[in-house]
Amino acid sequence: MPKHLYIAYTGGTIGMQRTPDGYAPAPGFLAEQMARMPELADPRMPAYTLHEYNPLLDSSNMRPADWVRIGQDICEHYADYDGFIVLHGTDTMAYTASALPFFLGGLAKPVIVTGSQIPLCEVRNDARANLVTSMLIAAEYPVPEVCLYFGNRLLRGCRAVKVDADGLDAFDSPKWPPLGVVGVEVQIEPRFLAAPLPAQRTTSGSCRAEGISLALPVADATVGAFRLFPGLSPDLLRNVLQPPLQGLVLEAYGAGNGPDQDAAVMAVLREATARGVVIVAVTQCLRGVARLGEYAAGAALARAGVIGGGDMTAEAALCKLYYLFSQGYPPEVVKRKMGEALCGELTPA
Ligand code: ASP
Repeated sequence: MPKHLYIAYTGGTIGMQRTPDGYAPAPGFLAEQMARMPELADPRMPAYTLHEYNPLLDSSNMRPADWVRIGQDICEHYADYDGFIVLHGTDTMAYTASALPFFLGGLAKPVIVTGSQIPLCEVRNDARANLVTSMLIAAEYPVPEVCLYFGNRLLRGCRAVKVDADGLDAFDSPKWPPLGVVGVEVQIEPRFLAAPLPAQRTTSGSCRAEGISLALPVADATVGAFRLFPGLSPDLLRNVLQPPLQGLVLEAYGAGNGPDQDAAVMAVLREATARGVVIVAVTQCLRGVARLGEYAAGAALARAGVIGGGDMTAEAALCKLYYLFSQGYPPEVVKRKMGEALCGELTPA
């Protein structure tokens, strides 16, 4: 039986059209471009069904509700397809690829998020290779997790970050090895794949199919991210931490440090965590781990109630906070689960 893929086009450069105002998504345009690609008609390629979202979004406009919508789409079509491709803009692709694994439990088929820096309609582009290779991997290789494919590398979705606004190797996974590297051969590294989240975490109203589940219902959750910088005023931080904020990713310095000599900043943090705001420190550095005890400046954050986010990316930490609060967990449980590896987003200490 030839493999059949479900391709969700959410928007983004890959399917955009040239307009007098610059590139913009246009309904039907990607389908036309794909229909003209001889590669996709080759019998060695899997069959596909393309589903175009309405409206098509530049990913800069995506919101958590869009992550859930994509998850729901995959869940609803899960039983009927062998693999899933999510075509997405690159700007917030790392967020969507980080969020989906928290919401999708029991995944046993590949879900590959991809896109491109140059649209398919241009003569020279990275769209063709990213699309064709993602499709081949989704059809032929056992990668039962949410991945991000870009620039010849298959990355774990919840470890990926966008590192280049222009280059064609726009994504990296600095704290977890690539799940696969594509050269003459496609080389998948099974030892780096994650064990899928169990499927039974859902409550009523959840979407279930063939053992997969989507963590529904999703309540509104208010989370944010804030990058420390020299000279930060306590008033600014206090404003950020105002209700209804439930969780904050604090992008701290180095190994998880903050201005411990600034009593007013520390007091603002302490007051917020005492109110139940979950503040998780990750490092601003591309590589390394936030451990709040290595320096006095980190221990002070811990004393103020901030928890360490280990080697999670800021993107994954934000999506995880959103996911946990959206499931209705109280702050104490959110704090505990932030320290547990739920879907390969975190290397246990
Ligand atoms: N602004 C576009 C987007 O994220 C960029 C891209 O797709 O590469 O939708």
